[in-house]
Amino acid sequence: MRLSQLLVVTLREDPADAEVVSHRLLARGGYIVKTAAGVYTYGPLMWRTLRKLSQIVREELDREGAQEVMMPILQPKELWTSSGRWDRYVNDGILFTLKDRKQTELCLGPTHEEVITDFVDTLVTSYKQLPVNLYQIQDKFRDEIRPRFGLMRGREFIMMDAYSFDADQKGLDAAYARMDRAYRRIFERCGLKFRVVQADAGAIGGSGSEEFMVLADTGEDTILYCAESGYAANVEKATSVAPAAPEGGPARPMAKHATPEIRSVQQLEEFFRLPAAAMAKTVLYKAVWHDREEVVAVLMRGDLEINEVKLANALNCLSLKLADEASIRAATGAEVGFAGPVNLGVKVRLLADLTVQGRTNLLTGCNETGFHCLDVNLGRDCRMPEFHDLRTARAGETSPDGKGPLRQARGIEVGHIFKLGTKYSTAMGATFMAENGKPQPFVMGCYGIGVSRTAAAAIEQNHDEKGMVWPAAIAPFVVAVAILDIKREAQSKLGEDLHGRLQAAGLDVCLDDRPLSPGAKFKDLDLLGFPVQVIVGRRAEEGVVEFVVRRGSVKSEIPAADVVARVQEALRG
Ligand code: ATP
Ligand code: MG
Repeated sequence: MRLSQLLVVTLREDPADAEVVSHRLLARGGYIVKTAAGVYTYGPLMWRTLRKLSQIVREELDREGAQEVMMPILQPKELWTSSGRWDRYVNDGILFTLKDRKQTELCLGPTHEEVITDFVDTLVTSYKQLPVNLYQIQDKFRDEIRPRFGLMRGREFIMMDAYSFDADQKGLDAAYARMDRAYRRIFERCGLKFRVVQADAGAIGGSGSEEFMVLADTGEDTILYCAESGYAANVEKATSVAPAAPEGGPARPMAKHATPEIRSVQQLEEFFRLPAAAMAKTVLYKAVWHDREEVVAVLMRGDLEINEVKLANALNCLSLKLADEASIRAATGAEVGFAGPVNLGVKVRLLADLTVQGRTNLLTGCNETGFHCLDVNLGRDCRMPEFHDLRTARAGETSPDGKGPLRQARGIEVGHIFKLGTKYSTAMGATFMAENGKPQPFVMGCYGIGVSRTAAAAIEQNHDEKGMVWPAAIAPFVVAVAILDIKREAQSKLGEDLHGRLQAAGLDVCLDDRPLSPGAKFKDLDLLGFPVQVIVGRRAEEGVVEFVVRRGSVKSEIPAADVVARVQEALRG
């Protein structure tokens, strides 16, 4: 392939909205051009990378027995109401919805559980046809609140989504294990450093769930892991051994104290000379379900933080936000800063974190402006709350297995595997005839890989000040042969010859035969990030070229005759 004939254009300026390196470099290299917020056109180089990545995904999934299909992007509302997901997704604002000429409502697929469940329900009638695992690689549409970081968080992006159907839980466990294996091989082949972490199953629901995280400082996800035991989880899901708190001792009678203008945990610590761990703070949230909105109160130990993902799961609500001042006043009858479990109206649901369970003599608010209560004992001085794990685990705390401290890292979620169970098949009435002759709902798993996000993540992990450094397996070209002065016959001839020989050796090579200055070519090739460069310059007449490994810019002069072998060797390393 000749760069003179390929639409390769590099830009001098970074896009104004580029906050992360992959967005900046992909735009500068002409790999992508923004069409609308979170919507990109992939140029020829980008598409080569995306095709290679997709091919790796296909090969590894096919190896595990999955079958490729293609589902529609346009999906009827009906299917989404049959699973019960339309309201949640509309409420989240994530769904792109539209109406056809007959005013029938549709959406653009953000994911395809409904479509595939309906498809399999139509074609699979007996346990004898199971298991089935179907996947597609296709554009997905999500109206993200903050589309940003280029390909990392788009509103239209490429996803591989797979769905497994089994007769029972054992079958699902096996399908899940196969996908886990395939994913590990996919990201290894892509040359990425990643970690598999326990994940929150979120709006899609289900039991077991793990995320594949590419480790990078620009990642939007926080991972907590224990080097000693191998425990690793997304902070949304992570647990830890809670830091110790002082013993409350035998229950004492509750005592109300005037605390004018004392509202925050820190002010209370100073006022009462008590550590935050001796308090239970009360935080009010407004939670939304499809048919109602409610203010709920959450008790958390004073020194610890509430995890809103865990809270939303405990409430099984559609969404959640901190209650505003007016709702706090309405719910507690007091100013902000004085909410508590004592004298809390029966209409306000009361939840508490496990770290306050069984504690005695707590300091809390009592829903009276200017007052707090000492020696509050739950169940005696107020209702007994519903206890859940609602706490955000933090780095430095002990891993839940007790084997060592938790450490923190940033990650980019490139893949996600879920055990769904029968959530969708039951809701949608999708059944097969089991061996015992009775209809049973399919036991499902679902699996996603952000194909376009993975390409961007590869750049977050592999770049330097000069540009991208593609892992060979997903580089648009693995090697570029640059003719520095195309007017010099010796250089042109040797360049063409090497291009031909590398091609004949089955290598994905491009020839930089553009009429540009050597400086411009060096700059471009460094930016574009192909793993190996072969520079044909002044010593072409002697049959000597410069051999450059892009990672680390390792340069050496070598005989032209050695080029093919050296490229192969460099790619193996
Ligand atoms: P996130 O938490 O980053 O919003 P998600 O958990 O909602 O992602 P999934 O539903 O698990 O995403 O989708 C499967 C995969 O698709 C993700 O692991 C991710 O790699 C990719 N993906 C999700 N949303 C986007 C997006 N807006 N742009 C690009 N890739 C995405
Ligand atoms: Mg996910």
